Amino acid sequence: MTAEHTDPGAVVVVGGGHGGGTLVGLLRQLGHAAPVTLVGHEADAPYHRPPLSKKFHGDELEQPLKPAPFYAEQDIALRLGAEVVAIDRDARTVRLDDGSELAYGTLVLATGAAPRRLEVPGADLAGVLSLRTLDDARALRDGLRPGRRLVIVGGGYVGLEVAAVARSQGLEVTVLEREDRVLARVASPELSSILGAHHERHGTVVETGADVASFAGDEHGAVRAVVLADGREVPCDVALVGVGAVPRDDLARAAGLACEGGILVDAETRTADPAILAIGDVTRRPLGGAGELVRMESIPSATEQAKQAAHVIVGRDVPAADVPWFWSDQFDLKLKIAGLLRGDRPAVVRGDPASGRFTLFHLDGDVVRAVESANAPAEFMAGKKLIQRGDRVDVARLADVDVKLKDVVLSVPEPAASA
Ligand code: FAD
Repeated sequence: MTAEHTDPGAVVVVGGGHGGGTLVGLLRQLGHAAPVTLVGHEADAPYHRPPLSKKFHGDELEQPLKPAPFYAEQDIALRLGAEVVAIDRDARTVRLDDGSELAYGTLVLATGAAPRRLEVPGADLAGVLSLRTLDDARALRDGLRPGRRLVIVGGGYVGLEVAAVARSQGLEVTVLEREDRVLARVASPELSSILGAHHERHGTVVETGADVASFAGDEHGAVRAVVLADGREVPCDVALVGVGAVPRDDLARAAGLACEGGILVDAETRTADPAILAIGDVTRRPLGGAGELVRMESIPSATEQAKQAAHVIVGRDVPAADVPWFWSDQFDLKLKIAGLLRGDRPAVVRGDPASGRFTLFHLDGDVVRAVESANAPAEFMAGKKLIQRGDRVDVARLADVDVKLKDVVLSVPEPAASA
């Protein structure tokens, strides 16, 4: 076995995405002096993923996480275009696809998620695209020219963001969603309905209950239509499949780590192997008061776990967990969402959705559990604080925009009594 270094403090990070890229910088910031290696399968150094669905037409598509000289300056070894193909937990080494090996004291898995494939005939035709990487976004940008027809399969956040940009660029856009509303898995029925209507007002055709059966191609092997289960064809020049992402936990599985819809980690990124941590979209971790295991796909979540892992590695106290949150931009709506949506109670609506500025509060009794807001950053921050503290609120006054959110608090929960 020819591992390249054997320092017990050596950290190997698998995955050069948001989590991995953030973690290596934090390690140096916290004074970790031992060797740090970041292995990334993509050819690009870590970059911001959110612009891929929001800025793919302008010159803001490519936004590196760190300036290019950063890694050399910080003595961080970058192995780009390289895939880790196996973990040897006994030897504490990983093997790369070129056959080389790296020894680790701590291994961090930050392998993210991969777009879920639509297993239907024609899914391999030219012009049937998915969106996860910078290369995917470059292909999408090249395919979307004004006047062309784009069909988006799946009304999730990424699909709707692309729909908004494409419409603004003058493309004909159709969103086909299998469920009875867009964002069915990730937003409340109220927000789904507001956003669906917002897209329709901007000229996007939004079709729910649409079951895609196949993609039809032309004589050159390029997609020409999306075919629905009822036989109808929706003509297109480009089809974007955005039907969710699956955690890339195959390496961890093969190494015998517990995985169940993602690598299972504790609230501080630890797996059952003390030498292996995992962060970001690939993980499922305890979140919220009840400690429910959740897999979050968001930048704030990956950043938070990168911080946790860095603190674990340098042996410092891990910072307290934040309320889970994320954002999305669609046309003029700057959306911010916090907390975990549970149950089916109607939301308390503050502000007028038609004005484009509103906040939806989701409660459990008189305690706020989740907030969905548009163009209302102050309300969002106040709502997030309510979730964090578990305050009881006066539900009747929550909807009144003339009442400040700090004045709706009825009582602050007692701190847990110490034993
Ligand atoms: P990733 O950033 O996906 O990085 C994982 C990396 O690991 C990849 O580069 C992959 O190639 C690499 N890898 C995997 N396996 C291996 C291996 N065996 N060896 C080497 N490398 C490997 N979140 C928000 O909060 N707000 C947004 O507006 C938002 N917009 C988004 C828009 C798009 C188009 C997408 C795709 C995501 C968006 N997200 C957004 C989600 C956010 O980008 C992710 O939650 C975040 O990138 C997760 O970071 P990660 O490090 O876990 O995974």
